[in-house]
Amino acid sequence: MQKKRKFNVRYIPLYVLYAAACTFFFVKLVNIQITGADRYVKTMSLTHEREVAVQSMRGEIYDRNGVPLAINEYKQSIQLDYASLPTDDKDRNETLASIISVLDKWEREAETVMPMTGVYPHIEYDNEELKSQLGKNRMYKFLIYHNIKSGLSCIDLYEELLNEFALLDVDGEHIYDPHTEDMIVRIRYSLDATDFAPGNPYPLCSDIDLKLATAILENGCKGVFLKKDCTRAYGVPGVGSNVIGRIGKIPEGKMEEYLEKGYAYDAVVGLDGAEAAFEDVLRGEDGITVYVEDDYGNVLDSYVKKEPVPGRNVYLTIDIKLQEAAEKALGEQIRRIVYEARASGIENSGEKANSGALTVFSAKTGQVLALASYPTYDLTTFADDYSKLVSDPAKPLFDRTVSGTYQPGSTFKLATAIAGLMSNTITQYTSINDTGKYTYYSDYQPSCWLKNGHGELELIDAIGASCNYYFYETGRRTGIDEMNKYCSQLGLGEYTGIELPESKGILASPGYKESIGQRWNPGDTLQAAIGQSYNSFTPLQLSSYIASAVNGGTRYKATLLLKTCNYSGADVQTNSPQVLGTVDIDETAQDCVKRGMKRSKELTSSTKGYKFPIGTKTGTAQTSKTNNNAVLVAFAPYDDPEITLSCVIENGAAGGNAARPVLDTISYYFNLDKNGNRLSSTED
Ligand SMILES: [Zn+2]
Repeated sequence: MQKKRKFNVRYIPLYVLYAAACTFFFVKLVNIQITGADRYVKTMSLTHEREVAVQSMRGEIYDRNGVPLAINEYKQSIQLDYASLPTDDKDRNETLASIISVLDKWEREAETVMPMTGVYPHIEYDNEELKSQLGKNRMYKFLIYHNIKSGLSCIDLYEELLNEFALLDVDGEHIYDPHTEDMIVRIRYSLDATDFAPGNPYPLCSDIDLKLATAILENGCKGVFLKKDCTRAYGVPGVGSNVIGRIGKIPEGKMEEYLEKGYAYDAVVGLDGAEAAFEDVLRGEDGITVYVEDDYGNVLDSYVKKEPVPGRNVYLTIDIKLQEAAEKALGEQIRRIVYEARASGIENSGEKANSGALTVFSAKTGQVLALASYPTYDLTTFADDYSKLVSDPAKPLFDRTVSGTYQPGSTFKLATAIAGLMSNTITQYTSINDTGKYTYYSDYQPSCWLKNGHGELELIDAIGASCNYYFYETGRRTGIDEMNKYCSQLGLGEYTGIELPESKGILASPGYKESIGQRWNPGDTLQAAIGQSYNSFTPLQLSSYIASAVNGGTRYKATLLLKTCNYSGADVQTNSPQVLGTVDIDETAQDCVKRGMKRSKELTSSTKGYKFPIGTKTGTAQTSKTNNNAVLVAFAPYDDPEITLSCVIENGAAGGNAARPVLDTISYYFNLDKNGNRLSSTED
């Protein structure tokens, strides 16, 4: 028989004690967790502390010469604070009435979202506002919150709210004058319709002046605090917008990432351009102010728990005047191409040109001096222009200088020349007889662009004449792998290292073709050697590649950062040039590139009249049966190359069309007239 477990009388006092202890803790728990922590805290102390984040001052952005590009402009706003605004209806109305009277005195009005026009009883819905999804959502949220049925007339809703908000006295008389009552209703509607909560203050009045700020503070208004909002002012409006970039609220999908880094919900961050690239430098560290308040939300004291640390100022490598000159020259040339094409009546001669890029790169340091992308936009009017900008088919928000990839066309032949020379498959004196059609392979026989061929040519003249045949032969002799060894060293199809989001481009190779499921043929090598096949690079890559070719073979990391310093201008940290790699190029090969580009400049009608000693190479890249992009690369001055440039004009018809803006930009940089003659200096 199973033995029953016996109840032991001796344990009764223990059970009782245990039950009592459980009950005690349970009640305690209910007290704290269910009936509200607030009340619990209040019985423990008479004051409580509230921490408010103080956003640090954002660093400012200057160009290489110290010209302000994006500087701070602080605006104060009056915010309603959930924690200190009374919750009792009558107290809340009184508080709002006192704030409204201060605003009235300074002829400012609270900003509200109630979709209503007029003053009671002459009121009606603002139908325009209620048409918007946001307006509808807010109304919906509000009615649910107050358990009010939808479909009421404006006047019925208002009268319902007079009761709901306790705005009538016991006799049903209005407590406040019509204006004050109207504003209280509007503000209280706005609070309940916009998720007013701890950590989500309501912006009551933005961009206020010091006098109003002082008046609000002196009036001892409860439930409000002043907030400094940082906005940007732009030193040279409309220029370099793609480089400078925008600031704004944290983008929706990125909130978690920023919160992890210690940002506040309402923080302002860099969204693109240098503002985003140098966010960590510009940001600084937020501070904390603590407000000591009584149970009624009155601030008794405040102290700084942590001082905010201002962000560092950033000096870009960009010369904003040069950037302006480049943007202007590029835009003018694109309009000129279209105008002349239309005037000529010749189809596909450039009438579809609508966009392009121009880059200026320091051949000696990797510093980026100008990044002109066309069309562009103006940061100062961005918000107003936004819908137009995003729907523009020419994509003004797309930075073509670092994100756009383009076929290099014949500008690639310089890389083929270097590969041929360095692998000893040609010398500068190698003579090749261009007969027009290249017949080495029986199954693939491409032609030179000059139908009947250039005849016997040596390397320099072949570069100058941009002979396809010469480079088909050079490419075949060198082979794609050997050729690409040098192309990669030159940075083609490699990141330039610039701090902006850049495309890597594509260096045509058997590996790449395999990755898209196709096999490389000998004919592909011929096409690749003249800059076709899959070759596709960013304009900045082209500038960087020419720099490595003419500076002795150093591939510098492209950079936009000149230096940073703290708010007072001290503690300067200079960004020294960084080398990404070296090119296996000897003096002869470098000399051939330079002489070839000089020859090309002299043989091209759009560049030959330019007097200043420079080298250029055009490219015409076929993008469809009827459209070509115009491409041009350049270096200057000839003897000791200081800068390299690239220009791409989409649907620009022919490479020579990209010359004018490059020459104009060189003229600006070296202080020359438009024909490349030195301007007589006004200084002694
Ligand atoms: Zn030829």
